[in-house]
Amino acid sequence: MGMHSLYQHFPVECRFEQTVYTRYKWGKGWVWREKRHFLMGLPPGTGKKEAQAYLDYLKAQGVDLQRKPEEIEDVLEAEKRSEKSTYNAFETADLIPSLCRLVKEVRQGRNKKAAIKKWVSQYGFLGVHVDADGHIHSWESLADFWREAETLADLWDKFRQVTQRDLDGMREWIRFVALHPGIRQLVGKECHTKAVYWPFEVEMQEGETFEEAAGRSFGKGHVAFSATLEEINRNPLEFYQVAGLYYIREKIEEKLADVGLSYTGLEKISNPKDDIFKLRPVIRPKNLLQAMYLQFYILLCGHNVKVCKWCGKPFDLRGCYNKNREYCSDTCKHSAKSHRYRERQKLEALLKNSST
Ligand SMILES: [Zn+2]
Repeated sequence: MGMHSLYQHFPVECRFEQTVYTRYKWGKGWVWREKRHFLMGLPPGTGKKEAQAYLDYLKAQGVDLQRKPEEIEDVLEAEKRSEKSTYNAFETADLIPSLCRLVKEVRQGRNKKAAIKKWVSQYGFLGVHVDADGHIHSWESLADFWREAETLADLWDKFRQVTQRDLDGMREWIRFVALHPGIRQLVGKECHTKAVYWPFEVEMQEGETFEEAAGRSFGKGHVAFSATLEEINRNPLEFYQVAGLYYIREKIEEKLADVGLSYTGLEKISNPKDDIFKLRPVIRPKNLLQAMYLQFYILLCGHNVKVCKWCGKPFDLRGCYNKNREYCSDTCKHSAKSHRYRERQKLEALLKNSST
């Protein structure tokens, strides 16, 4: 037991007992996502026609599901009579990088359902379908899994950009604008600029530029800087990193809003006169997804973690700040090098062929 070395700087123990089943299968069904998550499972291969017939049949019996045939979803289910085991999610640092790898591979053409089934067979469900009373179901819809996987992978990629000084990458989702003088009165005279983030939505009045419109507003989630635009442009890297981390932290905190505070035991401090008790605190996320966001948060609280440029795993600099390390290991460094070499060769071959 205990936490992975990358999380040990965190002052409170975190624990999530994740359930993994031995067998999973893809099925079909209607999903309810209200307070009580519910799946009306259908036989595999159910099409619209069969679904409509089923709805008609139920209606004749006096049951109206209020669902349409086209609302059938792909659902991954633990097979009935499947064995299960558990592990503590905080004993591993592989969860986020492996989920990011899955997203990347699927975007490159790997079969989505096969990839998800494989990931879940190893790590279990993200647990998106959790009831108001905390019960996690033994099924998960494809749509929910994929949406959450992409969201987390995109946020992790942003974190990689921040730690790897990828200024071009950060410029795609962060912009700085000058604050309107009226806004500076409210926010503080010392503030000159603020960061805005992709998708850069702002209400523009006629004849106004995006920068002017964005500089006129200031609300929740906005972060002000005392530096002027000129100062930021002169030395942009650190400003983009700070603005990027602010965004990442904000998104993580949204996911951790309802994280559970609990305890593993109660101690009585021996004392003849006073009764003093002490809790041994533990933070318990509601599902694996929240455990992963908590791990992300814990990494932000450490002072020396970077995301490997090649494999996407977080790695500990362990006080080695004397050079800008980009890879977690020599293996990744060499893999990246030979990948670049092969790419260059491919390009050269391409150019050679096109010139002859
Ligand atoms: Zn690596």
